Amino acid sequence: MTTPRHILSILVWFLAIEGVQAGQRPQQAPRRTADIVIRAGAIHTMTQGQKTMRSIAIGGGEVLAVGEAPHDLDAFIGGSTQVIDDLTLTLFPGFIDTHTHLIYAASDIKDVHVNEAKDIAGFIDLIRKRAAVTPKGNWIRTASDWNEWNLAEQRMPQASDLDKATSGHPVLVRRGGHNDVLNTMGMRLAGLTRDTPTPRGGTIVKDEGGNPTGWLIDAAKGMAERIFPAKSTEDRIEELRLASLDYAAHGITTVRDAFVEENELPLLRAARDRGLLSVRVRAMVGFPGFAGRDSSQMSAWMDRVATWTASGDDLFRVWGLKFVLDGGAENGATEEPYVGRPDFRGQLMWDPGALLEVISYAARHRLKVGVHAWGDRAVRTLLDVYEQVFNEVPNLPKGSLVLEHGGLSPAKERARAIKMGIPVTVQNPLLHDLAFGLIQGWGTQRTADVFPVREWLDEGALVGAGSDYPVGEYDAMMSVWGMVTRQTRAGILGPEHAIEVATAIRLYTSDAARLIGESDRLGTLESGKLADVVAYRRDPMNIPIGELPSLHPAFTMVGGRIIARDDQAARKANR
Ligand SMILES: [Zn+2]
Repeated sequence: MTTPRHILSILVWFLAIEGVQAGQRPQQAPRRTADIVIRAGAIHTMTQGQKTMRSIAIGGGEVLAVGEAPHDLDAFIGGSTQVIDDLTLTLFPGFIDTHTHLIYAASDIKDVHVNEAKDIAGFIDLIRKRAAVTPKGNWIRTASDWNEWNLAEQRMPQASDLDKATSGHPVLVRRGGHNDVLNTMGMRLAGLTRDTPTPRGGTIVKDEGGNPTGWLIDAAKGMAERIFPAKSTEDRIEELRLASLDYAAHGITTVRDAFVEENELPLLRAARDRGLLSVRVRAMVGFPGFAGRDSSQMSAWMDRVATWTASGDDLFRVWGLKFVLDGGAENGATEEPYVGRPDFRGQLMWDPGALLEVISYAARHRLKVGVHAWGDRAVRTLLDVYEQVFNEVPNLPKGSLVLEHGGLSPAKERARAIKMGIPVTVQNPLLHDLAFGLIQGWGTQRTADVFPVREWLDEGALVGAGSDYPVGEYDAMMSVWGMVTRQTRAGILGPEHAIEVATAIRLYTSDAARLIGESDRLGTLESGKLADVVAYRRDPMNIPIGELPSLHPAFTMVGGRIIARDDQAARKANR
């Protein structure tokens, strides 16, 4: 969507691009002429100990040089050099989201984004607006990145609510990975009646009269989804293009996708080959489902994934494997019982012995592994497994085994992880959006203890920051704000775990690059690094903290190419 403000900003943008400028006091003899030279108000290179810089020269997709003063790099300017002279800009290395789900973001990029609704009426209104521009009879589907705890009524909408939005379209509301709600027309198409038998492992929610309300949980979900036509490869690649552009528009230049199925790797490769990926992708390949997980099947799968690790490039490569040890917000494995449920401590999805066998195999074949461990019992169990992997596979390179989330990581477990050199990825946007639901299950104190980032850092851990979209939003500054304030939907939780703005940005740049094993190419702005840059109109290091969430990039650059300007946030424009 183009607004007058955007047109103005684009105009200002182009006016700021000058032609050739005479060189003044060049400090470095250039090796080559730059493609782009930027003179900015501040360049935070995130190189340890370096002060704020003012100019940067970029060529061949890499940083050629960084200068202290705005005109230090004028000698890099040639006849075809684009010069951006704009002292209102503050530059950082592009942000690296160390745990997010680009694949999921792509799959819901064209769906109705209901997470901005404040109540059921607002929710219905968004679906009504989509119905107004959708041919009658066509399905309307919502994205899954929202939570009913964040609606004023704190409940799921039902078919009778959705029917107020449209009677001419089947509607499928998705929430997280476990819940669907159909409107009446959707129920009719799915053949859902009061006589429909409940599938094993699923729930069909019914009213007092025994009639289905439209809400389907777990194994019952498939009823609606299986009548959807499968998307074509072309459609999925187009969705990857749009989603990756939207990440870039929110300041992200590299994503570590925390669950890519083997059959999705060719999609990412095709998008890369056609120049449609706007962010760098590091795929963690996950094994779909839990059925038939015998060891010969697993090792054959790992052998196939290993063939991908050799063929990657700077834009797309396989980072390693992903396993999920316990449940999420509603099912994380804890040492102490859930609130009001003395017999329930969440669920481990793996027998530790089986997990050890699989991870040892991966480690012996030099495949990196990240394991989702959310509750404290899962963290302890995983560290037990990792300890044995180190015994079985000595000389494992640093960073080969990663703790994903470590939501509840008490001091004893942190000390073990740090001693073994196991990095951890944290996702404050997840805590922000799920706070009400977490308090419901774990109580306020345990929820406040989620992501003890301050302690991890003080004690010497390598920490990478991220979003875990669709559980949390992926906007980089929103996430930084969350780490600095510990503000959530349920108020401030665990302020003692907060960190400073500069540290939070470090966890998204230089430390994130170390975590993914690419600090030689990414994470800081210095000569020889890939030219991934995010520019803001104000300096996040020097504005009131409360203004961080509304700070959006002026532009984002990947490999020296400007990918997104502030008018290109597709997701925002849809709203
Ligand atoms: Zn995740």
